[in-house]
Amino acid sequence: MVQAYGITEHSYDVAIVGAGGAGLRAALGMAASGLRTACITKVFPTRSHTVAAQGGMAAALGNMGDGDNWRFHMYDTVKGSDWLGDQDAIEYMCREAVPAVLELEHYGVPFSRTEDGRIYQRPFGGQTLDYGKRMAHRTCAAADRTGHAILHALYQQCLKHATEFFVEYVALDLLMDEEGICRGLLAWSLEDGTLHRFRAHRTVLATGGYGRVYFSCTAAHTCTGDGNAMVLRAGLPLADMEFTQFHPSGIYGSGCLITEGARGEGGYLTNAAGERFMERYAPTAKDLAGRDVVCRAMTIEINEGRGCGPERDHIHLHLEHLGAALLHERLPGIMETAKIFAGIDVTREPIPVLPTVHYNMGGVPTNLHGEVTTLRDGDPKAVVPGLMAIGETACVSVHGANRLGSNSLLDIIVFGRAAAQRVTAMLRPGERHAPLPQAVTDRALARFDRIRWTDGSTGTADIRLEMQRIMQRHCAVFRDGALLDEGAAKLGEVATMLSGDLRITDRSPIFNTDLVEALELDNMMPQAIVSLGSARARTESRGSHAREDYPTRDDGNWLKHTYCWIDHEGGIRIDYRPVHLQPLSNDVASIPPKERTY
Ligand SMILES: Cc1cc2nc3c(=O)[nH]c(=O)nc-3n(C[C@H](O)[C@H](O)[C@H](O)COP(=O)(O)OP(=O)(O)OC[C@H]3O[C@@H](n4cnc5c(N)ncnc54)[C@H](O)[C@@H]3O)c2cc1C
Repeated sequence: MVQAYGITEHSYDVAIVGAGGAGLRAALGMAASGLRTACITKVFPTRSHTVAAQGGMAAALGNMGDGDNWRFHMYDTVKGSDWLGDQDAIEYMCREAVPAVLELEHYGVPFSRTEDGRIYQRPFGGQTLDYGKRMAHRTCAAADRTGHAILHALYQQCLKHATEFFVEYVALDLLMDEEGICRGLLAWSLEDGTLHRFRAHRTVLATGGYGRVYFSCTAAHTCTGDGNAMVLRAGLPLADMEFTQFHPSGIYGSGCLITEGARGEGGYLTNAAGERFMERYAPTAKDLAGRDVVCRAMTIEINEGRGCGPERDHIHLHLEHLGAALLHERLPGIMETAKIFAGIDVTREPIPVLPTVHYNMGGVPTNLHGEVTTLRDGDPKAVVPGLMAIGETACVSVHGANRLGSNSLLDIIVFGRAAAQRVTAMLRPGERHAPLPQAVTDRALARFDRIRWTDGSTGTADIRLEMQRIMQRHCAVFRDGALLDEGAAKLGEVATMLSGDLRITDRSPIFNTDLVEALELDNMMPQAIVSLGSARARTESRGSHAREDYPTRDDGNWLKHTYCWIDHEGGIRIDYRPVHLQPLSNDVASIPPKERTY
């Protein structure tokens, strides 16, 4: 039954869901061009997960005198993606990286500086010069608080350009009409419990990743992939959901991140014997190989009994040798994090670390302009009218099967900017909105009511924990068919519990965190099912997807993107589209697949 709600109406040219780096960069560009822009966010803008980004943002500025250029950046990104990234999108991102960083500098981001006053750049995993020959210094950093610096500068710019913020509004669902056009969204204001209908000519999802589907992750509790789930509910597919990035250095126990910049500044990993084992797995790049490579090496060391500590279940990250002065200057946040979450003084002892879920390569498929695409009638690039997606929620795809460190802050800025340019070119401010049938809103209301009034016996936290444990055990760094099959069966049972036996104790519409968490869990479950299902289907190993039963990459059969749909009963359907191996311009040649070693 749909409860009668008084709904507040809003009319905008553009409605952006999310105020992380992607949402704010897009909002800024759109508002500055005169479009009425609403930015709807469930947390205060500067609390979005982007604020936690530490290490920095990649751009081939060449400020450290190493002769870096965007072609090297493109090569590294294609190789890092294990050739699953689309080369046209990667070329676009790597070329646009340079103006995008300089623009941020002009917006007021306080980057760290070199002696001669240029933006400071540090080495990061998988970044090389001359197509793999030497390590590059490509990551632009504001000490180890780069995301914080970027997010605050962008928020200030957004205020300057009169973006209208709706803070602590939870977007519930997209308003998709009968023709499959997105006409806006329905949101719930936590502060006073009211519901709001936002009409917009473009709705932009910038809702971030879904790391919280796993038990141990570096992402904030708000990273539940709400935008991804809205897209699935709209009957649209998500792409490449089998590719989940684990980060080598989550603090053992808490999962808090120690940036890859710590290894970029000279930190290294050891096993129980004190051996720098990465030299065996990646003789050239060593501790700065791709994240998937380092995580697999760490897991093998632990599985073969060479882990550290009494349980032999973690690895040591050493920074002691770098000296207190450098640590205070370049990694002050890390020193604090290690102290609080591991009780470690990094100037004296190593940090215990473990591979921890960190980033989602998969998400809402889009083109270079941030427009959402789907596979329709044989067209692999069919645009979904009115709907856009940017940032970690999107899959353009620039990261393919494995993202390189510091390419995500880059992705959110470059494609936030691209989306703003697209919308500015396509829309005139103040165009009228067509009438919207009530049934469209009722569908979204029905889901809200179903969860608000649910009357089962199992609490959100219990079901969520079950789901997270299943994903952590059955869909982690190493996977195999039997383990995935077992995981899918268990996940099915937990999904049934969610739809049939969920208990809500607070029915109030006002600041009801019980209901927020239940809605978030209802968003996460289909993403878990789709991720696990996509992983079961891909019978090869590529990037972060390492199948023990199919240990090699199989370009003959699998050089293609997964698209996965889910129905109301939790059944999935999978299809594929080819990878774009051709770059965008003639300024660079296609990079043919070859063996990926570091
Ligand atoms: C600890 C950590 C460190 C990292 N360090 C780096 C780094 O150094 N370099 C790098 O390149 N990458 C790094 N990353 C990755 C990178 O920071 C993220 O991928 C990126 O910041 C995501 O930005 P975003 O704008 O897409 O989403 P987010 O910053 O996650 O923002 C999501 C936004 O969506 C809103 N939202 C979500 N759901 C709803 C809803 N239902 N209703 C309303 N609003 C909603 C939220 O309120 C929020 O404003 C790091 C990630 C983590 C977790």
